Formats: sequence, structure tokens, C-alpha cells
Amino acid sequence: MKKLEISLPRNERDDELVRDIKDATQLFLNELMSKRLQNTLKIKIHVRKTTVKKGWGKDCGGVHLADPMGSKPNKEHKILIHYGTNIMSTLAHELVHVYQIATKKYQQRFWKSDGQLHVRWNGKELGLKEKIPYRQRPWEIEAFDLQDKLHSKWKSKLINQMYLISKQQAEQSA
Ligand SMILES: [Zn+2]
Repeated sequence: MKKLEISLPRNERDDELVRDIKDATQLFLNELMSKRLQNTLKIKIHVRKTTVKKGWGKDCGGVHLADPMGSKPNKEHKILIHYGTNIMSTLAHELVHVYQIATKKYQQRFWKSDGQLHVRWNGKELGLKEKIPYRQRPWEIEAFDLQDKLHSKWKSKLINQMYLISKQQAEQSA
């Protein structure tokens, strides 16, 4: 990535969590896109305790923010994750949206004619974003689908690491 910023809620200090978020972000992006594309991205990840979840997806513990730029792929992404949620699974979901926008699969633009936000998916104009019910949004369907697959890759990686550490410790004490 060009830039990756991670921040936890105020007064929370958890170096392990920050490191895990960084590792998981890298793992998920490797699954989703080329290194070349990753290197163009600036991503800010904020874990927050906020209860104000305005504009957040109904069924997820996070939100992805990027300015609508039409066919120009937005390189700057902000992800907010609720502290009380499954952070890694939510992170995977929101990074799928980063992938969709970075590859231009998902495009959002304000039309000059009506001043409203229109969306395009896989090259097809879908009309006004707000008119599409959340669960019928193809970018959400894809994000929910890939989120679990990505999350289980992260869990396997973590289990392998834990297994390796316990093996090393067993060897050292032998
Ligand atoms: Zn979503």
C-alpha cells in the first residue's frame, strides 16, 4: 500500500490488535488484487466505539467511505469499524468495497443533471443508489459472500502461527 493508517479508540492501547489488523489487511488485499494496484492505495482504518452508526450497513459492524469519483478510481479509502464487532470479518467486508472501487467494478457519481448519486456495477448503470435496497445491492452481496471466505483464510493463518509458536516453545523446553 502507498499508505496504511490504523487507529484504535481513544485510550485503547493494543499493539497486538494493530499488528493483526495490519497483517489481515495485507492478507485480504493479496487475495483481492495485484500488488501493483495495492501500491496505489491510501487506506485509513479507524476502530471506534461510537454508537452513532449513521450511514453504516444494516448488517455489518463497519462502513467504507470514499468520495464518489465516477470512472476515476478513488485511491483514498477510509474504513470505520465498530469496536464491539468481529473486527477482522468486518475488515474483510469493507476491503472488498475498496477492491470494487479500485478496480472500477463499482462506480459512484453525482450526476450534473439531477445532483443525485448514481451507481454503476460491472459496467452497467443501476440508477440512483438510494433506490436500491441494501440487500439487493450487488456490491453488498459480493462483500458478504467474500467476507467469510477471506475471514477463514485469516483464521487459518492465525491458527498456523499459534501452532508454530507452541511447537517452538515445546522444543525449547525439551
Ligand atoms: Zn458493505
